[in-house]
Amino acid sequence: MTTALNTLHVTNSFAELPSGFYTRLDPEGLRDASLLHVNEALGAELGLSPELLHSPEMLAVFSANAPLPGGKTLAAVYSGHQFGVWAGQLGDGRAHLLGAIDTPAGARELQLKGSGFTPYSRMGDGRAVLRSSVREYLCSEAMHGLGIATTRALAIVSSPVPVYRETVETASIVTRVSPSFVRFGSFEHWLGKPDEMSVLLHYVLKQFYPEILQQHAKADDATLAQALLLEVCIRTAEMVADWQTVGFCHGVMNSDNMSILGLTIDYGPFGFMDAFRVNHICNATDTQGRYAWNNQPSMAHWNLYRLASALTTLGAKPDDLTLALETFEPAFLKRYQANLAAKLGLEQWLEGDTVLVDNWWRLLHFDQADFTLSFRALAWAPENPDTFVSLFNDTEKAREWLSSYQQRLTRQQAAPQQRAASMNQANPLYVLRNHIAQQAIDAAGTGDSSVIRDLLRVLAQPYIDHPGLEHYALPPPADTPSVPLSCSS
Ligand code: AMP
Ligand code: MG
Repeated sequence: MTTALNTLHVTNSFAELPSGFYTRLDPEGLRDASLLHVNEALGAELGLSPELLHSPEMLAVFSANAPLPGGKTLAAVYSGHQFGVWAGQLGDGRAHLLGAIDTPAGARELQLKGSGFTPYSRMGDGRAVLRSSVREYLCSEAMHGLGIATTRALAIVSSPVPVYRETVETASIVTRVSPSFVRFGSFEHWLGKPDEMSVLLHYVLKQFYPEILQQHAKADDATLAQALLLEVCIRTAEMVADWQTVGFCHGVMNSDNMSILGLTIDYGPFGFMDAFRVNHICNATDTQGRYAWNNQPSMAHWNLYRLASALTTLGAKPDDLTLALETFEPAFLKRYQANLAAKLGLEQWLEGDTVLVDNWWRLLHFDQADFTLSFRALAWAPENPDTFVSLFNDTEKAREWLSSYQQRLTRQQAAPQQRAASMNQANPLYVLRNHIAQQAIDAAGTGDSSVIRDLLRVLAQPYIDHPGLEHYALPPPADTPSVPLSCSS
């Protein structure tokens, strides 16, 4: 464990790319910043001692007032499609990459979000508000706790510095951690520029997909691009399948918010559903429902087409890229069915299970039943039919579905207790509900990080009971005003 900041082994692989890929610059330090919370568990993975994480030197780094020793601070350029429309150049408009820390699992980049102007800030102010930073901080760790591929969050600092959104809020910075922050949009940026695209391709393969380079020794860029696309299709399909089966809506699945590593990235107006709605939209700005829950798989696929289209720059043939793109659907279905089988306690996915699951979704949708608690209840439902049925408004429909489920379970061997135990490993009790995130935000606004602390405890282990913290598992009371979430964060 490192206790001194200047003994860290920091690398800068992204900064070794040609200068057109980024701008080297200092972030804008946040004045009067205080450490709201630091993630000691992630810190340990990075080899950082608790003393170091809580030190004034580290706070200076987290608040953009000092560089990471040995790091080369930069903002990266990328482009992208936003809401289906080519948006041209975007880039890190309020994020600064500090460098990477070596860990046994590989190098982990540290990136500040909310750390001031960059050449890519466009109309923005380079800042992030406390509200959105708390949400990103908590949700990255909630996803990690659920076993869903995601960037991580190491620290959150708050400050009294005003930030102007719909109202006046205060500035905050989250330190994010990931092997890489390269996006689909990083490739789209070099459409029609084969030299730069080739540099980026080889960088991503060498750093993050070495097995592809090994399998395709001496292959040309077109072949390598196709191999990369295939792998990104599979990872993205599995990530989105995992989103679907916990009721997570990302909210802004623009191609600049899609990670080349298949990680959930850029938490904005995301939401875990309380009441299930098949077409639930979590982003108030998304008036068309482009990123509604039931559209997420096809929107991920659409973004992969944009990535593929960028890769034609390297001479990859559309037919070959299409072959890679066609792996998306089977990869998605395989993961989606495996997740649902685990959630329903089915030992294997049999013909007819699609109908059982579709009818389950239909029951939840028309009843507006709570996504998380309804799945959790399935573990004990077959043995307690009356209690289960009473959870629903349409008890008749619920009873009908339950009997089809009971019927299905007769085709299996496992004892009910064994099935229930395995289902409880697949159906979380705790997800980051919006009204709960709001409680953490409200407390954080008064300098109180205890809700963040308690939430991180339950979200790190969302499949087990946490005595004394049961309230974090509850849906919002009926009279809770819903918090409108938009991209303005
Ligand atoms: P998003 O949809 O939040 O991922 O952001 C899209 C683009 O807008 C990215 O290039 C961001 O860096 C940029 N951006 C978002 N908010 C701000 C801000 N407050 N200041 C500067 N740039 C921003
Ligand atoms: Mg973004």
